[in-house]
Amino acid sequence: MRMYDLIYTKKTGEALSPDQISFWVKGVAAGTIPDEQSAALLMAICWRGMTTEETLALTLNMRDSGARLDLSSVPGLKVDKHSTGGVGDKTTLILGPIVAACGVPCAMFSGRGLGHTGGTIDKFSAVPGLNVELTADQFRESLRRTGFANSAQTGDICPADRKLYALRDVTATVESIPLITASIMSKKLAGGADALVLDVKCGSGAFMKTLEESRALARSMVEVGKAHGMRIKALVTRMEEPLGWAIGNTLEVIESVEILRGRHGDGVLARMSFRLAAEMLVLGKAAATLEEALLKVEGTLRDGSALRVLRDFVTLNGGNACALDDFSLMPQDAVVAEVRADREGYIHAMDSRALGILAMELGAGRKSKDDVLDLGAGLRVHRTVGEAVKAGDLLFSVHAQPGRSVSEEAFRAAVDIWPGEPPTYPWLLDVIE
Ligand code: URA
Repeated sequence: MRMYDLIYTKKTGEALSPDQISFWVKGVAAGTIPDEQSAALLMAICWRGMTTEETLALTLNMRDSGARLDLSSVPGLKVDKHSTGGVGDKTTLILGPIVAACGVPCAMFSGRGLGHTGGTIDKFSAVPGLNVELTADQFRESLRRTGFANSAQTGDICPADRKLYALRDVTATVESIPLITASIMSKKLAGGADALVLDVKCGSGAFMKTLEESRALARSMVEVGKAHGMRIKALVTRMEEPLGWAIGNTLEVIESVEILRGRHGDGVLARMSFRLAAEMLVLGKAAATLEEALLKVEGTLRDGSALRVLRDFVTLNGGNACALDDFSLMPQDAVVAEVRADREGYIHAMDSRALGILAMELGAGRKSKDDVLDLGAGLRVHRTVGEAVKAGDLLFSVHAQPGRSVSEEAFRAAVDIWPGEPPTYPWLLDVIE
């Protein structure tokens, strides 16, 4: 078989056979296919797409390019959640302990952030001592003992995806529905969970900018999951403004703990986290209906059991759980600037992508994958879309290392303030199952 023929086939809009896909993925994992040929095929896939059969074959071959985690020694249906990434998205830190406190083992592998979106692993790194790179045995032990396990993916899972993702990152071939589906679902299938709730983000701060694209990605991932016997459901959610009041790693841990203590319960972040948790409980067969599941979720906040799971998870994995009560034990930068509104009106929009990039420039995120983070950097968002503001009202507190220059104008430019109350937008745009 020749890579040239695969590239030519896809370039002319034909489907690749399962054997051809297997040849490519095995060659990528073994390092026998030159990057320029894989890059050409990736670009052809971006333009020509893939059939459902091709996407399934790509996912399976990527899953089988490395190890698979066996969670069968942990009793019960194991559930996972995946978000396609947003600014201020810390739902994993909130729903993981909640789901575990309801008796459903919550097994989640997470990523580090790159560019304007943060990663759960970076957020958990703000908790002093917490091991965010668990071995397979430590992962299973955490799941068995606390009901919750979260870790960076081990290096031996889906090596073909790691190589292809690095190539996609530098060849503008990330935004492709079959490639995103195969990349995410191969890792989820290798991660060993029985059920998966997908949070597919839609909007200016997300990969998928339109509702149609987001729905298509959600459908594609649900189809692949079902074909492999996974219990799976996708929520399509709005990603225009940042989620919650915190952007930046320590700040996001603080906000998550506050929600687990029952604060901000009526905000979008809390409602989204509770709904995702409830969906996980239904898929995990701990509740028959969403209503019953939501009551269980609320119960774990009222009786403190969700926060207890988080403490147990942190302690078991080497972290200092006192930091969840005394936030000064986490890295924190002082406020170096307070950004205020320069006019009166209503907030019509907040550019989450621009704010994510500004937070990244403060040190809260990575421009390139080897950058070292400043875990204490970030911003506190004081106002949200739909609120009325007066000139001089506080919009953002900017946390950074002393001496870091901050352009207040750049922050103000990310907020649209106009006269007249804006329409309200639902955070949940669609459900695909
Ligand atoms: N996240 C992944 O893991 N893969 C993609 O292709 C996109 C987002």
